[in-house]
Formats: sequence, C-alpha cells, structure tokens
Amino acid sequence: MWLFENNKPRTRRPAIQLKVKTLLNRIQHFVGFVFREIRLCEAGASLWIDIHIEAHAAMPGRCAQCRKAAPSYDRLPQRIWDFVPLWGIPTRLLYPPRRVDCPIHGIGVEFLPWSAGKRPVSIPMMLFLAQWARRLSWRETARVFHTSWEAVYRSVDWLVQWGLAHRVLVGVEAIGIDEIHWGRGKGAASFLTLIYQIDTHCRRLLWLGPRRTQATLRQGFATLGPEVIRGLRFVCSDMWKPYLAVIAAKAGHALHILDRFHITSHLNEALDQVRRTECRQLKGRPRAVRLKRMRWKLLRRGSRVRGRAKTKLYGLLQSKLATGRAWMLKESFYAFWNYRSVTWAAAFLSVWTERALRSRIEPMRKVARMLRAHEELILNWFRAKGEVSTGATEGLNNKIRVVTRRSYGFRTYHAMETALYHNLGQLPEPELTHRFC
Ligand SMILES: [Zn+2]
Repeated sequence: MWLFENNKPRTRRPAIQLKVKTLLNRIQHFVGFVFREIRLCEAGASLWIDIHIEAHAAMPGRCAQCRKAAPSYDRLPQRIWDFVPLWGIPTRLLYPPRRVDCPIHGIGVEFLPWSAGKRPVSIPMMLFLAQWARRLSWRETARVFHTSWEAVYRSVDWLVQWGLAHRVLVGVEAIGIDEIHWGRGKGAASFLTLIYQIDTHCRRLLWLGPRRTQATLRQGFATLGPEVIRGLRFVCSDMWKPYLAVIAAKAGHALHILDRFHITSHLNEALDQVRRTECRQLKGRPRAVRLKRMRWKLLRRGSRVRGRAKTKLYGLLQSKLATGRAWMLKESFYAFWNYRSVTWAAAFLSVWTERALRSRIEPMRKVARMLRAHEELILNWFRAKGEVSTGATEGLNNKIRVVTRRSYGFRTYHAMETALYHNLGQLPEPELTHRFC
C-alpha cells in the first residue's frame, strides 16, 4: 500500500511528482543533474509544466569547453528552456547555471547537457521538433506543438549544422550533378546546383549552392574537399557547359557520364517546344484540336498511355503534324538504353541522330547535334552500367521537388537549403536516449 507509507496518507501531488520524475530519469537523464521538482502551473486559460533542475550535490560543475570538472565560481540567475511537451502540455526546464573556474579556460558558464549556447529551446526539444519536421511541414509542426515557425526553423537549422559538422565523407565513389529551378524568376539567380552521392549503397544530397555557374560547382567541389574528389570514380551530369568544364578540370580522372535522366529531359523539352510552336501556328484551324490537352500524354512513355488518350495519340501520329513526328523520334530513343554493348549503342546513336537531323524539326535537330557532340560521354553510361545507381539522380531530383514545393513557408535561400539537407542529406544526429518519431 504505497499510498500510506509511514502511516501517513500522502497527498496526490507528491505521488504524481514521483511518477513523472521516474519517467524523466528513465528517458531523459542528464549526467550531473537531478530533477528537483515538477510543477503543473496554471494561469488563466493556459496550462504548462515547469521542471526545476538541480545540480547533483556530489558532482562539481564541468567546464563547457573541455568538459572537465572545475570549482564553482558563482551562480547566474535562473534560465528557462523549452522542453519536450509532456502529454501535449507545454513544458519548460528551469535552472540557474553556475559559472566555473577552469584552470585552462578560465571563468565561464558550466556545461549544460540540454542547452546549446544561448538558445532558448533545449536540445531534446530541438531534436523533437526537427524529427517531426521531416514528416510535417514546418508550419504544421509549429502549430501541433504550440510553438513558432521560427522555433521549428531554428531547431532544424541547428540539427543540420550539427550534422554537417559531424558527417564523414568516406567511400564516395559516384556523384551526380544536377541543376534545378527554384523560385519564380527565370534569371540565373533562380537556379540551384546540387551534388548527390549516387553509389549503389548510399544515395544522398552532399551539397547545394546558388546559381549554376562554373564558380558554383567549383565551390561545391572545394567544400567536398580534395580527398573526396580524388576518390571519385564516376561523375554523372547534364550537358550544361559550365559543369562539363569544371568536371573535366577538377575530376578528369573519373569516368564522366551524361546520364539517361538528363538526356530524356532534353528530348521531352524539345518535343514540348515543337508542340507549343505548332499550337501557335494552327490557332483557330480545325487541325488544332489534335494538339489540345496533349501535353502530358505526349511526354509520357508511349507504353503508358492507355484508353481514349491512346486513340487520340494515334490520331495525332497519322495526321503528319510535326508534333507527331517529334513524338516518334522521342519514343524511338528509349531503345538506346537497352543496349549492353557500347559498339551497338554507338551504332544506334548514329542512326537515330541521322534521322533526327533530316527531320526538319529544329528542336529535335538541336538535340541530335548535342548528342553527337557529346557522344563519348553518353556512351560512358554503358561503360558504367551496374556500378552507378543510374536511376538515383531522377529519384533524388523528384524528392527535391517534393521538398521545395511543400509549404515550409520558406522565406529565404537558407531556409530552403536547410530543409533540403534535413530531408535528403542523411546527416548524423546527436545521440539521445529517445527517438521521438
Ligand atoms: Zn576547460
């Protein structure tokens, strides 16, 4: 009968206190500190929990820089940190930090295992928010856990910075370089350069930077460091000239591959351009009906177009419109990727580009000229088959779009950068006894 120990009936409050303390000690113990008191506070309509922390009586404070025990110097006023909400009730940690006198580092605030510098949010709470912020948007995370968007952003930022500082870049043999459009403008400033690791055993975002110039990629390579660059065996990229130049100069020892995903996008863009031009030319004429609402049907692989859309597509092909002919060219290129031998792939490429160059469809001719100019780099795709995860760039590119489109309420480049590293960087996290989700 634990309620009546010492022959004295206990009030309800100490009993609850004991249970919460047990819970906290079990899942969130801070070495050198104890949970002194846990109070449920009420003021008006608001309800919150205060957890008062106390230094362990037998353990001296530790220097924040070297973590070694040091004699106490004085005590600062009480500080308050946001803590993980218990039962959905906002919870705070309260503690008056000591200053210690370290023989090496002098007088300074003691090491507090739950605190990161002057941040008002405790480390467990930052991890809690950041882990949820991978599943919910930042705005939703803030709303669900009664905090601000800023608090969520800062928590994710802290975790990303920690992860970038602690990640180890070993065994990176294959990278993919990609550019994506970001923002509303069409200028150079609204592009980003991304570097992925695309080894079969690990696919992740390694780096991103603003714009898509030579300087951007050089900066990316510099961040990865000379050792990573030296260890590269494969580099996949688009036919974007500034990238080609930097890859040739900095990673000439690796096999440079122009990958399938980028070539397919060039073909699709060319086809779309043909359709748009033809739409404009046919405006108002009866034949224009054939091109109406055809955009996605055309860009899709032919084998995946079914039902009524398929009938419409056949109608377009028989109409001898340039869009139909361009579609045939795009579609026939898929066969290229099925070759095993480099020689046969080269033969196919030569026949296909010949056909495209004779087609009198300028956007398709442009693609054909581009493919011819980079033939060797394209054929490298067959030389690296099986060693590089060839679908990885496309997969990561799609994920990036999901993240940049999700309503994070990004206001700045840095917020968007943070969200991308957080979701796709596979960064290490500080070890905590408890995972929140
Ligand atoms: Zn020290």
